[in-house]
Amino acid sequence: MSYRMTTRTTGALRRLAIVAIALGAAAVGPAAARPAVAQTVGATEQAAAQEVGAEWAIAVHGGAGTARRESMTPELESRYAAALTAALEVGGEILASGGSSLDAVEAALRLLEDSPLFNAGKGAVFTHDGRNELDASIMDGASLAAGAVAAVHHVKNPISLARRVMEASPHVMMAGVGAEEFALEQGIELVPATYFFTESRWQSLQRAREAERRADAEPVGALGDRLGTVGAVALDRHGNLAAGTTTGGMTNKRFGRIGDSPIIGAGTYADNRACAVSGTGHGEFFMRNAVAHDICARVLYLEESIGEAADAVVMGVLVEQGGDGGVIAMDPEGVIAMPFNTPSMLRGYLTSEEGPVVEIFRE
Ligand code: ASP
Repeated sequence: MSYRMTTRTTGALRRLAIVAIALGAAAVGPAAARPAVAQTVGATEQAAAQEVGAEWAIAVHGGAGTARRESMTPELESRYAAALTAALEVGGEILASGGSSLDAVEAALRLLEDSPLFNAGKGAVFTHDGRNELDASIMDGASLAAGAVAAVHHVKNPISLARRVMEASPHVMMAGVGAEEFALEQGIELVPATYFFTESRWQSLQRAREAERRADAEPVGALGDRLGTVGAVALDRHGNLAAGTTTGGMTNKRFGRIGDSPIIGAGTYADNRACAVSGTGHGEFFMRNAVAHDICARVLYLEESIGEAADAVVMGVLVEQGGDGGVIAMDPEGVIAMPFNTPSMLRGYLTSEEGPVVEIFRE
């Protein structure tokens, strides 16, 4: 189902291509153009898809996973759609009024972090020992400045702490207790660990522990555990790209495991010359392949379109290695690609020309 709240089209000169990727139809895009993409564009010919103009654009994801239409109630589906739409609209308002892509990314992700629906902030999954351990990162495509936090337990909005690391410290990444000391010093909101308790995530942990006891455990990282990481990419009216990603990681994770989401170049990357990317999926594969940076490097050095580059990595490299997941990616013209190799990826976009459009399943 496509949740098309409003659609505006103009004769703008700048280009926007919403590119359908992955198995013929993994991306969202203007409904009229989508069938043409599916029929005529092969997995690596996405660049030839439609091109329309966008002065500003934002895309968000709510995680890649195994959810299938049959297994999701219409009520839950519309709650996800409403949350993603609200995030797009918050970011879109900032962009429409001339605000920065960094502000749009942070505002959209804060909203999703505050929702119990997503595996980030309030709705974060539990570690093996019953804690919530949060990771986040943000990057400014104009300056290549970046900030990240990992394994924090009391930060209500890790994306804002990541931004503070970027803007108020000489560092790129802080972890654990040190990151929380910095948060305190910076006046970032801290909450008791109990704030992150949600019954559904707790039950997921109990199921994972039980499966482990029965020795029929799916390995940590099983797709079902991961739906809900959130990310955003945006282009502002000044031509600046930004990207951010925030997550609770994987249910039942142990030993201080940190995934790709807070790793610049793996889960998040932005460079005004090439693209902005936020990933979701099996983090170990995203780290080994420096997925977000690889997509931008392909655009920059191989001169691939954003659709070709994102497709080559998500549907090529990752699939060959068994790495589940997807990305949202945007180029400096506001062209958006959203390939994923899982049954579903919560995703949506809003641009100066169109949207918000939100989709969940492969259609
Ligand atoms: N990439 C995240 C991690 O590995 C999880 C996800 O995106 O679902 O921590």
